[in-house]
Amino acid sequence: MNSQSKKIITRLPPSPTGNLHVGTARTALFNYIFAKQNSGEMLFRFEDTDRERSKKEFEDNILEGLEWLGIDFDKSKMFKQSERSDLYKEYLEKMIAEDKAYVSKETEVKEGGRSEVIRFKNPNKKVVFEDSVRGKIEIDTTDLGDFIIAKSLEEPLYHLTVVVDDFEIGVTHVIRGDDGLSNTPRQILIQEAVGAPTPKYTHLPLVLASDRSKLSKRHGAVSVDEYRKMGYLPEAIVNYLMLLGWNPGTDQEIFTTKELIEQFDLNKIQKGGAIFSLEKLGWVNKEHIKKMSDEDFKQKVLEFLPEEITNLNGYSDDKFNKILPVIKERIEKFEDVKIMEEEGELVYYFENPEYEKEKLVWKEDGPDVAIKHLNKIIEMLDEIDNLTAENVKEKLWDYASEEGRGSVLWPMRYSLSGKDRSPDPFTLAGILGKEETINRLKLALEKLN
Ligand code: GLU
Repeated sequence: MNSQSKKIITRLPPSPTGNLHVGTARTALFNYIFAKQNSGEMLFRFEDTDRERSKKEFEDNILEGLEWLGIDFDKSKMFKQSERSDLYKEYLEKMIAEDKAYVSKETEVKEGGRSEVIRFKNPNKKVVFEDSVRGKIEIDTTDLGDFIIAKSLEEPLYHLTVVVDDFEIGVTHVIRGDDGLSNTPRQILIQEAVGAPTPKYTHLPLVLASDRSKLSKRHGAVSVDEYRKMGYLPEAIVNYLMLLGWNPGTDQEIFTTKELIEQFDLNKIQKGGAIFSLEKLGWVNKEHIKKMSDEDFKQKVLEFLPEEITNLNGYSDDKFNKILPVIKERIEKFEDVKIMEEEGELVYYFENPEYEKEKLVWKEDGPDVAIKHLNKIIEMLDEIDNLTAENVKEKLWDYASEEGRGSVLWPMRYSLSGKDRSPDPFTLAGILGKEETINRLKLALEKLN
């Protein structure tokens, strides 16, 4: 095979020392999408050489999160570094035999440290490599000294395992966070020592919080499952994360995964940090909500709809279907349905609202004005056969315009919702239906009389 036709292999090597972080998910996506668009493959491994901090629960969380995002890979090729000690040992032995590494007796042994470790024999040279974001990078490795690559033959350290694994699985492109940049010279030296080719490097700008510091827990949610629980859609998270450090150079901001695979360009990654903005994510999520089918939207709302609502006597599927457009208008993420419930924005559809009668009266109007308008509205609504939001509006509009919209529509809206803020009275009437709307208006009249 010549180099042009060589299959592109990227890799995703998370350390299972925490839940799937949005930054890792972004790295995963860049690797996944780049491989996909080149008919290549992304290979997965767990870098669990840190036995203390690596946990099964984090492995599960990472795998579940990736699956939820739709980032798939061949599970039969997945492995863990902790299961490959024999392989790393072979490399270490060979390096020692070839005088590229050596067992060093440590003179200054720190607390808990080893008296013997394996060090890499640094050729002290200039390492030059191309990074697709940063361009040509030249580093003199002399300052790195003879760095440690294993604690013992059985306990290899990160730089060695990364190089061995990437070599063994034929990685052609390393796409990882900017924090990996300082590791690259050491890894290139080891590649050269073991006869591994140097892959192409892309170091992605860090994901930053709005204060431009590295995004961390103190800024709020950082793990993918937290966003899942808040009711963001996986396709919106994918879309948003891809925009952290990349854009197509056009106005398009909303993408399906298929479009991302078509349009993503590894050579168009920005250098500066990419700021994670909840506001922008919310907007992207809402755009994806708009694209959902009615049925999918309904199912998703039901997942988040609190029992406080479904347990109400007046709850019905029919009415629930009618308020779905109101919910769609109002939410950015599905957890907002719970907020709507907490703020009393849902309950009044299913039971009569409670409110103070004084609030039925618009501004400087007296109660008599509200009474007059409510009576007139009832009369007009009675004349409508098939009541919908549209024909209520049509019927009342001229009257409201002549008499003053606030004077007419405020008492109506307030009778129906009992809320300072709610959808307009036509929408409310359309959802409640003729009988219930008229009943509520009559109840308001009783209070006023
Ligand atoms: N295991 C490293 C991490 O989770 C990845 C290192 C790499 O991509 O080379 O940060």
